[in-house]
Formats: sequence, C-alpha cells, structure tokens
Amino acid sequence: MNDAEQLTEMKFSDFHFAAEVKQRSHVDLNMCYHCWCCAGGCPFVEAMDYTPNGVIRLVQLGMKKKALECSAIWICVGCHTCSTACPMAIDMSAVMDALRQIAIEEGIPCAEPDILDFHKEVLHSVEDYGRTHKLEIMLRYKIRKRDWFSDMDVGLKMLAKRKLDLMPSKVKHIEDIRNLFNRDNRGYQE
Ligand code: SF4
Ligand code: SF4
Repeated sequence: MNDAEQLTEMKFSDFHFAAEVKQRSHVDLNMCYHCWCCAGGCPFVEAMDYTPNGVIRLVQLGMKKKALECSAIWICVGCHTCSTACPMAIDMSAVMDALRQIAIEEGIPCAEPDILDFHKEVLHSVEDYGRTHKLEIMLRYKIRKRDWFSDMDVGLKMLAKRKLDLMPSKVKHIEDIRNLFNRDNRGYQE
C-alpha cells in the first residue's frame, strides 16, 4: 500500500477497534514500540502478508478492515516464539486469537479458508470426544475439501508408525466439554 492509499484508509479508521482487541486479548498494544523482535523470530513470517508487529500497527491505527482481512491472523499458529522474544512480553497469539474471533463474528471473508476449515474440524473433534482424534479430523477435512489423494503417502506412513489411532477415545465427562461449546455463539458452525 502506498502513502496515498494508507492515508485514504486511515480516514476510515475505527478508533474503538484497538480498545475491542485489548478487551478481548487482555493485551495493551500501546506497549509495543515496534522493535521488530517478533517479526525477526516468527517461523511463519515469510508466509504472512503483514509481520506480527505490522498487525499490531494496523490495530493501533484503527485499520480494522485490513487487520481482519489479512492472512497473518490465520497463519499465526500461536507458538509464542514472538512473545518469548518480545521485550514487552506482548502475547501475540492472544491478539491473533482476538482478531480471528472478531473476523468470524463479523463474517469477514477468511484470507486462508483452508486453515479455517482445518480449525473447524479440530473443534468438531474436541466437541465430540473432548480431545482430538487426528485420523477423523484429517478424513473430515479431506471430505470437506473433496481432496482425496494429496498427502495420502504421509497419512499411510503415520498409520504404519502407529501415529494415528484408528478409533477415537472420549474423555469421561464429555457433557462438561460440550457445555463449553455454546452452539449459538461458537461462530464456527457447519
Ligand atoms: S517484539 Fe514486542 S515490542 Fe517488539 S515489535 Fe514485536 S510486539 Fe512490539
Ligand atoms: S505466535 Fe504467531 S506471530 Fe508469534 S511467532 Fe508464533 S506464529 Fe509467529
């Protein structure tokens, strides 16, 4: 984005946005002084359209649309590498979580739909069993994508090495887990 586009975008800044992200993530983004340590250490930064501190800058400037539409919020895996390196101990994964949550609630088209699809299958598994059943997650994801054969060699190797359980196991009090999933508000329906 050039300077003129940046200025146009800022005219539509949402100055309540930073407060909303702070309230959801419990992170004070004003603590960030853009030293770039997070961007330097993030193992996934090459795949992101904005660096982690770039996402923080979008939020600070109230550039809500850009922040919610960017791929970085979906590519972040919440590994906390950046938080460990951050001199202000900013919990970046909590910020990314908050942004993903707002994006889903507001129906913003996801920049990385495959990641969102996989995320939904993981949540389905947790809701059904109280833990993840990786084989079912992969099969359901494949059905959702209608992509039957890619990665099959990896799947077969994992099965051969007994890295994938054939049958799911369920936690004792599954109803307690299910109660955590408020179907009216969970935002990942399907
Ligand atoms: S490391 Fe922390 S202070 Fe530095 S840019 Fe990243 S979030 Fe901001
Ligand atoms: S938590 Fe996200 S932003 Fe931070 S290092 Fe990991 S992937 Fe990168």
